[in-house]
Amino acid sequence: MAYQQRGQPPISRDALWQYFQRVDTDRSGSISQDELSSALKNGQWTEFNPETVRLMVGMFDRDGNGMITFDEFAGLWKYITDWQQAFRSYDTDNSGAIDKKELSTALISFGYRLSDRFVDVLIRKFDRRGCGSVSFDDFIQCCVVLQTLTAAFSTEDRDRDGWITVTYEHYLTMIMKMPL
Ligand code: CA
Ligand code: CA
Ligand code: CA
Repeated sequence: MAYQQRGQPPISRDALWQYFQRVDTDRSGSISQDELSSALKNGQWTEFNPETVRLMVGMFDRDGNGMITFDEFAGLWKYITDWQQAFRSYDTDNSGAIDKKELSTALISFGYRLSDRFVDVLIRKFDRRGCGSVSFDDFIQCCVVLQTLTAAFSTEDRDRDGWITVTYEHYLTMIMKMPL
C-alpha cells in the first residue's frame, strides 16, 4: 500500500534552517514534541492533535532521542507539507475539513478498497470535533493508523486473499509491535 503524494518542489537548506529555527523556540538545537505542537498550532489549525505530533516525531526521530534535530527535520518538514498539499487537494469543497465523501476519494486514490460502512467507522473514530468530518491533524492520524494496520495485516496475508488466521497471542503480538 504505497502513498503516492505529489511532492513539494525542493526547499533550499537556508529556508529549511529558517523554518527549523522558528520551530526550535528555546534554541536548544533540536525540536521537542511541545515545540512542534506549538508551531503547528500557530498555523491555521487550533489544538493540533497531540497523538499526530507524537506519531510524526516518532517517524522521523531516527536516533530515538525523542527530539528532532536539523538533519531529521528535512524529512519531517517534507512530510508535513506533503500532507498539507494532499489535504487541500482532497478537501474539494474547501471547507477546511475532510468529509466522508472526500475521505472515500482520498482512500481510493491511496489504493485502499474499503466499504462505505468502514469509512463511517473511520470518520466516527477520527472526528475529534464531532462535526462529521476530519480536520488536518486527524486526517494524518487516520491515514497513518490505517497504513500501519494494513501493513501488519498484509505481512500475515501471504497469499493476498484478504484473510488471515492468527492465534490469540499472535494477534496480541501484532498489535503490540505497532508503533501507534
Ligand atoms: Ca528546542
Ligand atoms: Ca532525534
Ligand atoms: Ca471538505
